[in-house]
Amino acid sequence: MHGRAASPERWHTWPITRREVSARALNLCPCAVFAPGPGEPPVALNPNGAGPVATHATGARTRIILSIIVSAIFVFLLPGLGVVGAGLSVARQIVAPVHVALLLTGFVGTGLGITIGYHRLLTHRSFDAHPILKGILLVLGSMAVEGPAIAWVANHMKHHAFSDRPGDPHSPNEGFIHAHWGWLFDFSLIDVDRYAGHLARDTVARWISRTFVLWVAIGYIVPFAISGWEGLIWGGLLRQFAVQNVTFAVNSVCHRWGTRPFKTRDRSRNNWVVGILGLGEGWHNNHHAFPTSAFHGLRWWEVDLSGHIIRILEAARLVWNVKRPDVEHIRRRLFEPAAAPAYARVTE
Ligand SMILES: [Zn+2]
Ligand SMILES: [Zn+2]
Repeated sequence: MHGRAASPERWHTWPITRREVSARALNLCPCAVFAPGPGEPPVALNPNGAGPVATHATGARTRIILSIIVSAIFVFLLPGLGVVGAGLSVARQIVAPVHVALLLTGFVGTGLGITIGYHRLLTHRSFDAHPILKGILLVLGSMAVEGPAIAWVANHMKHHAFSDRPGDPHSPNEGFIHAHWGWLFDFSLIDVDRYAGHLARDTVARWISRTFVLWVAIGYIVPFAISGWEGLIWGGLLRQFAVQNVTFAVNSVCHRWGTRPFKTRDRSRNNWVVGILGLGEGWHNNHHAFPTSAFHGLRWWEVDLSGHIIRILEAARLVWNVKRPDVEHIRRRLFEPAAAPAYARVTE
């Protein structure tokens, strides 16, 4: 997974902006820490690859090592402490209802920040939202510790552009572990102008992305303030483990196991387990067939909590221009067009 970064001779030197440097595939750190300092050389950009991915220049090794350490802390160490800590509190029989409540509310709250805020609103523009609601969703998404919103969007747009082909940041074609965790340690760069250019003038998304670390910290401080160290373990670290790994499962599991009712140019699948746990995101073949649809669950039994909440927000006029695929469009994409009537409800 480090092949691109390990072969600098393959890369052509190219000026690249500070902003592009700071927006790695998944930047879990304060961006400025890893951006080049004044007078430092530009990074290299690969003009021949599947996507405009760039890597750090020679001399940036320290930053890459720091990136690996920081990512390992936030992807493995802290979530792992959450799992171990929660296991110990179960063994010692000191789990209180408040701990479970912190876990569940934190899971659903920050999870919806990712599914509704980062993914359906910001990435795919499936609907328009009041700026205050948008800000709340992006703050909640930031607390899930999956990187600043704009970097997440750029990375995910690249996934849609190259799904399961060279250039896809996290296809299981390169192995399940790569798709789930490994790609997080590929510190190639994403061309933000190309993949998240639609956010160039989005002041809400830009400000919340710049202040990402603040929201991550608040995501730990709030459960700690409510219930001390046990609160931090359940509502902070274990919650982070759960949300991160369910999101990662969309990338790994949902491109390997499940059903494919729709013709798409990738290996996306509908997986009902990830559909439920992922608050609707596991209906991933549906999503690849209709990326701008605000609803991923398209039949009545395809549980899509995020979609249901978008319906409620639409009824409350807090979101509008909600996108839905029409039945004829659905019929054309189905392997079995006769099944189209079962999808009719999404157009309502
Ligand atoms: Zn996908
Ligand atoms: Zn998507």
